[in-house]
Amino acid sequence: MSDASDHEIIRCSFCGCTAQEAHSMVAGPDVYICDRCVDEAAGIVHDDQRTRSPERSPAPRRDQASKLVPHQIKSALDEYVIGQHRAKKALSVAVYNHYKRINADHYVHDYHDVELEKANVLLIGPTGTGKTLLARTLARVLDVPFSISDATALTEAGYVGEDVESILSNLLRSCDFDVEAAERGIIYIDEIDKVARKAENASITRDVSGEGVQQALLKMLEGTEAGVPPKGGRKHPEQSLVTIDTRNILFICGGAFEGLNEIIARRRSARTIGFLSDTAGRISKDDPRIFQYTEPDDLLQFGLIPELVGRLSVTTALDALTNEDMKRILLEPKNALVKQYQKLFALDGIDLSFDDEALDAVVERARTLGTGARGLRSVMEDTMLDIMFDMHSHPEAGTCRVTLSTVRDGTPPLYGERKASA
Ligand code: ADP
Repeated sequence: MSDASDHEIIRCSFCGCTAQEAHSMVAGPDVYICDRCVDEAAGIVHDDQRTRSPERSPAPRRDQASKLVPHQIKSALDEYVIGQHRAKKALSVAVYNHYKRINADHYVHDYHDVELEKANVLLIGPTGTGKTLLARTLARVLDVPFSISDATALTEAGYVGEDVESILSNLLRSCDFDVEAAERGIIYIDEIDKVARKAENASITRDVSGEGVQQALLKMLEGTEAGVPPKGGRKHPEQSLVTIDTRNILFICGGAFEGLNEIIARRRSARTIGFLSDTAGRISKDDPRIFQYTEPDDLLQFGLIPELVGRLSVTTALDALTNEDMKRILLEPKNALVKQYQKLFALDGIDLSFDDEALDAVVERARTLGTGARGLRSVMEDTMLDIMFDMHSHPEAGTCRVTLSTVRDGTPPLYGERKASA
C-alpha cells in the first residue's frame, strides 16, 4: 500500500501515477499497481473471457459447406470425378448458392423481403457416367450428411413399397439421427426418370403411382415438415415420429432419361421447319451432347409433372464417357482402381504395373458391358482375380506387369525379380 513517509516516491508500474494521485496502490515484489489500472486490467480479462465463451454467441452452425466458393468446390470434385466439367460447374454454383441461402437468414438485412428460392438439381446422363459419384463426392467435400435413395423403390403412401419419407430416414441414419445435421444434408435420388408418367396425354394411360410419387417428392423438394419413423420402416399409428424440416436439404435427382434424346431431337427439328435450308438447330438423337439441350418442356413431355420440373431448377447434363475418359478413370482419381490394386500389391512387396495397351483393352471390354465406367471395375476384377490367386507361387517376384494378352486372354502377367534393397 502507499506509504507517504517513504523517501522514494511510489509509482504505479503501469501508468506511472504516484501513490498520492491514486486512491490506493497494490504492491508486489518490486512492482506497484494503482486502483485504476487494476480496474482496467479486470475489464480486459473479462472481455477476453466473454469472446471465448461458447455460450455467449451461439454462432450459427457453419461448416465446410459455407466456407468453400464454387472454384474450390469444383477443384475438389476434380480430384475424384473425371471430365463432366459443365456438370461440376453447375453443381458447384448451385451448392454454393444453396448454403449461402441457408446462412442468409443470419446476416442479410437489406433484402429481408426478397426470398431466395431453393434450387434442387437434376442430373441427366447415361448410366455409369458419374452422377451418383458427383453427388457423393460433393457431400464428402462439404462434409454434410448424405444418402442415396432409389426412386423406383418408392410408392405413394399406402401402396406396397417404400414411403417417400423413407428417403429422409436414410439421411437420418447416415448421420446417426442428428436431426439438425440432417436438415442441412444432401439427398441423391437415383432413377428419377422411372417415376415419369408413361405418356404426356395422361387421361387414358395415366400411371397413377408414378404421378403420386412425383407429388410426394415435390412436397419434400419444396420444403416441408415431414414426420419420419426414427428407425426407418413404414409409418404406423401410435409410433412416435421425428420431425424433419426439408427446407434446407439439397436434393439432387439423377436419371438416364432414355428416350429424352428423341424428344429433344424432334423438338429441335420441328423448330427448323419453314427454314428448310437452315438446319443449324437440328441435332441427331444420337449426338453424345444432346442432353445439354434439354428444356423444361422436354421433361414435361417425358412425363415429369410441371411442379417437379419447376423445383428442379438447376438441370445439367453429363456427357457419355469417351475411351480417353475411361482410361483416365482407371488411373487418375484419388482412389482410382489402378492405384487401389497397386497398393494391394505393394503390401505384399510387389510393384504392380499395367501396359498402356492393357488399359486400353480393359476400357474396350468395359464398353461392351454398356454400363459406362461401372464396367471398369468388373473387368479389372475379372483380370486381377487369377493374378492375385496365383501371385504367391512367385515368391521371389518383386514386380508384376499386366500386359495386353493378360487382359485379352488371361495369359499370366510378367513377373520380375525383387530389386535388391539399397
Ligand atoms: P451413375 O451415373 O449411373 O450414377 P456412378 O456415379 O454410380 O454412375 O458411377 C459408377 C462408378 O463408375 C463410380 O463409382 C466410379 O467408380 C466410376 N465413374 C463413373 N463416372 C466417373 C467419372 N466421371 N469419373 C470417375 N469415375 C467415374
